Amino acid sequence: MARAYVALGGNLGDPAAQLENAIARLAQLAQTQLLRRSRLYRTAPLGPAGQPDYCNAVVALETGLPPVALLDALQLIETQLGRVRGEHWGARHLDLDLLLLGDLVCDNARLRLPHPELAHRRFVLQPLAEIAPGLELPGHGAIEQRLAALPPWEVRPWT
Ligand code: ATP
Ligand code: CA
Ligand code: CA
Repeated sequence: MARAYVALGGNLGDPAAQLENAIARLAQLAQTQLLRRSRLYRTAPLGPAGQPDYCNAVVALETGLPPVALLDALQLIETQLGRVRGEHWGARHLDLDLLLLGDLVCDNARLRLPHPELAHRRFVLQPLAEIAPGLELPGHGAIEQRLAALPPWEVRPWT
C-alpha cells in the first residue's frame, strides 16, 4: 500500500458537482481507501485567456494499485465525467493529476512523479497543505515554506 495524493480540477459544466462525483469514484477504486479530502477552492485559470474560474481540490488515498493502473483509473474517471482531450491547459470538465505516490520517482511518456508542477502551483499546494500539513515536498522542503515562497495566485473558497 502507498499514500497517493491526487489533484482535481475543472472549469466547464458544473465543476463542483464533477469534483464531488470524482471524489466518490476515487473512494470506490479497487484496493484503495480515501483517507482525506480538501475543501473545494475557486482559483484563477492557468493557460489560455478567457476561461472560467477553476474548481480545485486534493485528496489523499491509500492504494495498493500499481502506478500505471492508478493512472488508468484516473483517466477513466476523467472520461466518464466528460473530459474531452483538447488544448493543453485548455478548459476542461475534469482533470485528475497524480501528485505523489509514496516516494516513487518516475519520468516516462505516461507518468511523471512527483508531478513536475507540484511545487509551483498554489492552487494545488493550498488544498494539499489543508489535508497534509507539514508534508515534505521532494526537493522543496515543508509545504508551508514552499507556499510562503510562491508568488500570489487567486485561491479562495469555492462558495
Ligand atoms: P499539467 O500536467 O501541466 O497539469 P494537464 O493536466 O493539462 O497539464 P493533461 O493533458 O491532463 O495535462 O495530461 C497529459 C498527459 O500527462 C497524460 O496523458 C498523462 O499520461 C501524463 N502524465 C504524466 N505524469 C502524470 C501525472 N503525474 N498525473 C497525471 N498525468 C500524468
Ligand atoms: Ca493538470
Ligand atoms: Ca492532467
